[in-house]
Amino acid sequence: MDDSCIICGSREFCEIYPEKLSADSFSPYAFSARGPYREAGHCQIVKCPDCGLVRFNNVITEDEAEALYKQSYYLYEDESEYVVQTYFDLFSGLAESLHGDRRVLEIVCGDGGFLEKLADAGVFEVTGIEPCQSAVSRAASSIRSKIITEMFRLHDVKEDSFSLVAAFHLVDHLFSSRTLELLLQKAGFQFHKIGALANRFPVPY
Ligand SMILES: [Zn+2]
Repeated sequence: MDDSCIICGSREFCEIYPEKLSADSFSPYAFSARGPYREAGHCQIVKCPDCGLVRFNNVITEDEAEALYKQSYYLYEDESEYVVQTYFDLFSGLAESLHGDRRVLEIVCGDGGFLEKLADAGVFEVTGIEPCQSAVSRAASSIRSKIITEMFRLHDVKEDSFSLVAAFHLVDHLFSSRTLELLLQKAGFQFHKIGALANRFPVPY
């Protein structure tokens, strides 16, 4: 299991808090986006001495996480409208930099709300990747066909196939420190929004 820092690759870390896990920590419910994660506990919280990233240490494998993400629940219908508006406002400041080449991939696109918003803006070619089958089933029919219902894999992103890769809270869930570096080679821009704590399970999204 790769426990290196996903930002700088360092294998060093200092413990901030010990793990606090329960029988419910590794359930589809605990891995549901915007779920009641506080009850699910947390893994060991550590800080990278080289770049300062505060994160959870992995305690499960990528395959185990994949199964939980795929079975997770769609719990944020009431919040979706506000989430989409927040993401779109953040994105708007970047749109000019694309110089009219607006092929957008959103990694971990949930119910596709942000992609729908981009499509409604009229000029975007959009694609999404999302492992949660329950969330994808709630996407608008015009967007659902543009979503790959799978875990994000680097080889799914072909070189120069997108002008922008958008990822909101993806960094929190990466397993490899090389992913961001390799992804940057495939798309001109990456746009990330991350939480205050880079969680690496079981705290979802
Ligand atoms: Zn680091």
